Amino acid sequence: MGDPYDYAAVGAGPANLSLAAQAQARPGLRGVHLERAERFAWHPGLLLPGATLQVSCLKDLVTPVDPTSPYTFLAFLHAQGRFHQFLNARFRAVHRAEFDAYLRWVAEQLPTVRFGHEVHAVDFTGGCFALETRHGTVRARHVVLGTGQTPYVPEPFRDALDDTVFHSGQFLRHADGLAGKRVAVVGGGQSGAEVVRHLLTARARPAELHWITRRPGLPPLDESAFTNDLFLPGAARAFFHLPASEQAARLAAQKYAGDGIDDTLLTELYQLLYLATYVEQDAGPVTLLTGHEVTGFTRAAGGALRLVLKSADATAEAEADAVVLATGYRQGLPACLRPLLPRIRFRDGLPRVRADFSLEWDGPAGHRIHVQNGARHAFGIADPQLSLLAWRSRTVLDSITGTDSITGTDRTDADRTTAHDHT
Ligand SMILES: Cc1cc2nc3c(=O)[nH]c(=O)nc-3n(C[C@H](O)[C@H](O)[C@H](O)COP(=O)(O)OP(=O)(O)OC[C@H]3O[C@@H](n4cnc5c(N)ncnc54)[C@H](O)[C@@H]3O)c2cc1C
Repeated sequence: MGDPYDYAAVGAGPANLSLAAQAQARPGLRGVHLERAERFAWHPGLLLPGATLQVSCLKDLVTPVDPTSPYTFLAFLHAQGRFHQFLNARFRAVHRAEFDAYLRWVAEQLPTVRFGHEVHAVDFTGGCFALETRHGTVRARHVVLGTGQTPYVPEPFRDALDDTVFHSGQFLRHADGLAGKRVAVVGGGQSGAEVVRHLLTARARPAELHWITRRPGLPPLDESAFTNDLFLPGAARAFFHLPASEQAARLAAQKYAGDGIDDTLLTELYQLLYLATYVEQDAGPVTLLTGHEVTGFTRAAGGALRLVLKSADATAEAEADAVVLATGYRQGLPACLRPLLPRIRFRDGLPRVRADFSLEWDGPAGHRIHVQNGARHAFGIADPQLSLLAWRSRTVLDSITGTDSITGTDRTDADRTTAHDHT
């Protein structure tokens, strides 16, 4: 048995790919990245034609902390021989399909990433972490969890998932089968909006469409300049130091800075709904129900799906042949961490996280469990997004290597809390 790795990372989505890419610039650091998928794919079930990134492509895996890295989005464009054409195309936003290709390009160059390596269990034994995969045990001094979020399924649908009731994360697997059917899309965020656009522009459309959201309307994503300051590393740090009650209040207040619908898409949807309702003769009925929560679900004998909808002043029913749950995702610790759960500290059901994104646990201080995309409650609404991913990975690497940047010795522009904080 050789020496343990300095760190083992679980998952190789954008968060841990950023870590792997930045680790290449730290000579002597020994890390390994274990990914269950056989090859890289970025949320493939929602990689819809025309879907775009909701963030600048400069907020890639590395640029915000190291624009000279060979793994930037611009380096990707250059390597593909399309830098000038990309500029001439003048996209308002980069297509997700192109960002997916960029992420795969990075993943395929990184020698530390092992695909087809699902981690089943993480334990601490013999003075280091032991990560179990079907290929054997990987030992490491530190662990970095980058397993993403879990699809959220509302209570009425918990035991109902199948080929007719599915989360939007599986949408493309089922999309062709929705032609000519009565479809209900539940959820009024970006995913719901993208799914509805896809259905309304499909060559073979559903016979009938219900779009149901408990939100009182379809609020836009707030991408205005001052709101975007929430996505600065300094803002995440300031959030970290707030009292827990204030953190919870701010998360609620800031919801639509991370969770609204892209404004251009909203206009496009309005136009599609207008055409379906007033202009196109043969369009099936489209019903938008805002302020309606699905409180009940049953399957009738003939296979019809019945949804009970509650609004502020009434209860109604909708019938469908298929239900798409565009109900978002939730953070949480992955199942593979179960052996260590009794040793991790929680407050109000949420894991306690330190400033270096490590979990508070009762193990030796020199062995840490870092979480990527698992600390929204402690770092604010930017935590699940791409914006701070490069900065967070740098912070984790600094902690692993003992480099001091979180105390502010190398404070960069991006570390300020607002564009106007020049202290
Ligand atoms: C459709 C969609 C579009 C988005 N678009 C944007 C956007 O435009 N801008 C933005 O800022 N944010 C966006 N986000 C939010 C966020 O940036 C992405 O979800 C991003 O993929 C998060 O990266 P991640 O690495 O934390 O998680 P994921 O991308 O979910 O990656 C987690 C990885 O861990 C692997 N894994 C899980 N468990 C194990 C295990 N036990 N062993 C080994 N591997 C495991 C998974 O296979 C997966 O590859 C989007 C989210 C979605 C769903």
